[in-house]
Amino acid sequence: MKKWLYSLLTVLLVSAAFINIKTVAAQDKMAIRTVVEETYLLSDDFVTPITSLPPKAIVILHNINAGWAHIDYKGQQGYVPSTTLKSAQSTLMLATAKNPPIVRETTETQAKHLGNLHLDSVVQAYATNEDNWYFVQYGNLTGYVIATALKTPTSKKMLVQGQDGLIVRSIASKSGENIATIPANTKVDIYTNFQGWAYVVTDQNIQGYVLEKGLKEIPVPKLGRYSQGAATKTKRIALTFDDGPHPTVTKEILATLQKYDAKATFFITGHRVNKSPKVLKEIYDAGHEIGNHTWNHPKLTKITLDQAKAQINETNKIVKSIIGQEPTLFRPPYGAYNKDILGSLSVPLVMWSVDTLDWQHRTPSKTLKAVQNGAYNGSIILMHDIHQTTADALDSVLSYLTKQGYEFVTVSELITPLK
Ligand code: ZN
Repeated sequence: MKKWLYSLLTVLLVSAAFINIKTVAAQDKMAIRTVVEETYLLSDDFVTPITSLPPKAIVILHNINAGWAHIDYKGQQGYVPSTTLKSAQSTLMLATAKNPPIVRETTETQAKHLGNLHLDSVVQAYATNEDNWYFVQYGNLTGYVIATALKTPTSKKMLVQGQDGLIVRSIASKSGENIATIPANTKVDIYTNFQGWAYVVTDQNIQGYVLEKGLKEIPVPKLGRYSQGAATKTKRIALTFDDGPHPTVTKEILATLQKYDAKATFFITGHRVNKSPKVLKEIYDAGHEIGNHTWNHPKLTKITLDQAKAQINETNKIVKSIIGQEPTLFRPPYGAYNKDILGSLSVPLVMWSVDTLDWQHRTPSKTLKAVQNGAYNGSIILMHDIHQTTADALDSVLSYLTKQGYEFVTVSELITPLK
């Protein structure tokens, strides 16, 4: 190491003594960081280099004290300036049998063997400065795994069952740390299941292992035509918004729905998705359901069946390209369909129970009035998220229905009541 660097470090060290020393404990128990620029791991005299750290090297941060980060790198402990580190982003990876997923202390093939990952376990994996190796974390076990022993997992949605919710643990064992409890009826993404455990991720980004028997398949609505859902003990209602997404009106509607913690269903048109793909992503990411409302809103009974199918397929395609899955419902423009159209669908056809006529009168007080007069347990309300007046009415509609004791659910939830 160059002499000037030693002097610089000495100056830093001396100035540190005059700074009000504050220890910043790492937020999480295992704080994993990545090296931003080349630096040296220094021993506890803050001067003697132990080894050099290349950019993208992964380290475990113990604490930060007066600008010095106390870290662990490949089994060696030491100090680096805290500014040379930043949070490391992990991805979920699945341990495969191809190369035994052995966790090692360093990236040398004969390096100390710290443990084995269970086949089919999901771990947090961090890209390192060495392409062939990942740094992984599974509970308290951390270390290097050869890249060919890991692959990207696929996920599927399931539902938390039971009354008390489901305990999330750091590893696939009852001895794993209790991270959180996921409430019953929460939809979760499942990345693997092995030995009775499943790795789950929730919308709120709670992640970890749960007992597989605490999960169930999401009930799939039966094909057919629906204009209302089942009445249940608790009052439930499905708000639906057609013809969007609209770059400003839809966003306002999303904000109001969030204020009331309300889930809704958006029957989108393909041509508007084409213009505002990001708005579609926002709708989906907020947990609302996406329905297909054709590409450009023709009366399907006035065009050929092939044309009608193309309207639906093109819309499915563009939605899938943006959110990764096709719409789960279909609603025909003007409510116009025939047997052939119904027969060609692979998702339920959904009409409505209460028509607010918001597109016609464009008056917020009339939209509210229509809801007050029409809403009942299990009803599906029709509105349009391309008119500012509908966005203007929504707060009063949600406020009224909340006071009436309604819970706001998606159409699929309404037409397949949860047991
Ligand atoms: Zn429409």
